[in-house]
Amino acid sequence: MVCEVAIVSGKGGTGKTTIAASFVAFSGNLVMADCDVDAPDLHILLKPDVKHSEDFISSKVARIDTDSCTNCGLCQTSCRFDAVDPPEINPIACEGCGVCEYICPEHAISMHDKVSGELFESKTSFGHMVHARLLPGEGNSGKLVTEVRKRSVKFAENKKNRLVLIDGSPGIGCPVIATVTGLCLGIVVTEPTFSGIHDMKRVLDLMKELRVKPLVIINKYDLNIVNSQSIERFCQEQDIEILGTLPFNPIMTESMIAGMTLPEFSPQHELVKNLERMWKRVENIASERQ
Ligand code: SF4
Ligand code: SF4
Repeated sequence: MVCEVAIVSGKGGTGKTTIAASFVAFSGNLVMADCDVDAPDLHILLKPDVKHSEDFISSKVARIDTDSCTNCGLCQTSCRFDAVDPPEINPIACEGCGVCEYICPEHAISMHDKVSGELFESKTSFGHMVHARLLPGEGNSGKLVTEVRKRSVKFAENKKNRLVLIDGSPGIGCPVIATVTGLCLGIVVTEPTFSGIHDMKRVLDLMKELRVKPLVIINKYDLNIVNSQSIERFCQEQDIEILGTLPFNPIMTESMIAGMTLPEFSPQHELVKNLERMWKRVENIASERQ
């Protein structure tokens, strides 16, 4: 059985993607899935060579045939989303509910597939990667995340990979719920700030609700020792394992700027060795849960 491990963070900017890319670099035997479909950035570090791409169709959009429209205005008054100004329909405001198509006496309205994003299957120097990009202003990010996960698991099964490593999105909204549901293991990367702690607790609550085993990494530990200790206390009370702590170090940003994973950028650095120890622990826990 394939074990899906996701790296999430209640809040953005905690170092989640840098850590995810480092884990990928250590493994060499997993499938990567970038489920941060609103703002994907794992590709910056992993430089995927796209082998297959396709449109992501998640909903319908209404269209008016101007030759048949008599401009009676019925569709305009019936649309709850203010998307119609006959004979125009605003494709961004249209939610694809189909009411206007149903109500039009002239059968002048038809529903059409709406492209909401793109899905990619790629090769990287570390293995197979599934990723996606939601178009600006589009919804249905949860559906796209689910599709990315489905494809990465299928690929892992075909290639007999044991693990899928997911880079999730920040927050606890729809894409995160779609990322966390049914996971084998969820790793929360947090930082010792008030918002970092608050958002870590929210995502841990979500994992508890969805019965996902959590682990926590405290990044930039030394920037506020008191807050870091309060995270440790909280995790101890909740019986949540702290996978590790990382001090603040500019090489995290420097490796990003260089477009390299940390193990490629500075293989002998203590931070990298620390991350490698964490990854070994993740592999052990994952194999126990398979
Ligand atoms: S309901 Fe049909 S005929 Fe009336 S304005 Fe809308 S598209 Fe035109
Ligand atoms: S499909 Fe629904 S949301 Fe879209 S224009 Fe028609 S009534 Fe409005």
